[in-house]
Amino acid sequence: MFLFFTLRDHLQAVEILLSRGSEVNPRNKDGLTPLHWACTWGHTHTVGLLLGHNGIDVNVVDNAGDTPLHEAVRGQRNGVVSLLLNQGSVQLDIKNKKKMTPLLEAVSRGHLGMTHLLIALGANINAVDGEGNSCLHLAMETEVFNSEDAPMDLLNECCTALNLKKDEMLSGVVAAKYLASQGANFHHRNNKYNTPLDLIKDPNLRKKLETFSPPQCLLCRNKEATTKVHPCEHLLTCEECSKVPLKRCLRCLKPVTSRGRVEARKFEDRCVQTEATCQELEVASQETGEYKIIVPN
Ligand SMILES: [Zn+2]
Ligand SMILES: [Zn+2]
Repeated sequence: MFLFFTLRDHLQAVEILLSRGSEVNPRNKDGLTPLHWACTWGHTHTVGLLLGHNGIDVNVVDNAGDTPLHEAVRGQRNGVVSLLLNQGSVQLDIKNKKKMTPLLEAVSRGHLGMTHLLIALGANINAVDGEGNSCLHLAMETEVFNSEDAPMDLLNECCTALNLKKDEMLSGVVAAKYLASQGANFHHRNNKYNTPLDLIKDPNLRKKLETFSPPQCLLCRNKEATTKVHPCEHLLTCEECSKVPLKRCLRCLKPVTSRGRVEARKFEDRCVQTEATCQELEVASQETGEYKIIVPN
């Protein structure tokens, strides 16, 4: 009965049921709760009422592993998403049975406004789904994104940088460039061993995006290179692979005397995010000291 009233957005009925002590998180056979239903259908008032009730579980998962946030993002229920995100207790990176986070759902459905909001609130931009696809793989497979609440200024910059026409501002490639500028890893390979760039069919476009993607780690070929070697100054490996003791540069074969971490390019960009993220990034950048490697003669 509770589910039925939630489904129909019968606010008063829901209120009465709650005031009579009805369980606030009852589940049906699919594991769906009233909050799931209200989020799916975008019933903002009912969602507000449920969220204000003691004992509401905002991160409850149904049998498919979906949280109310997954449902609201999928249905592009902007008002409901804002209400959920206002709850300090909402978790942004819960994966459903297909390993999709709400951010991955937002990208695969072409909802750029929600994608932007989730990134700004600190959702993991490098989460991958059950097939190893990151948000960049999913963006490449999305032909057109919708413009609702989309970060048009940033998209415009990306579009100009790629030398594309304005009518391509909401294309998957421009969205991918935007996601990369927010820290998404262009070198991550999915389970089929494809990087997001491998999914671009147009060779010219691929080349253009390649020039913007940061250099790849020459050892694992799966991450951004952030460690350079001295004295030749070639950028060679990611942080993890920087532990491999190289005697010679992988590019020019000059002897390596020492190595140093280069600040990741997006530190500045990412400071549009929460203060906590900025502080973390600052600490991380202070810790990027240099270390010597002894080269035997
Ligand atoms: Zn590596
Ligand atoms: Zn070199």
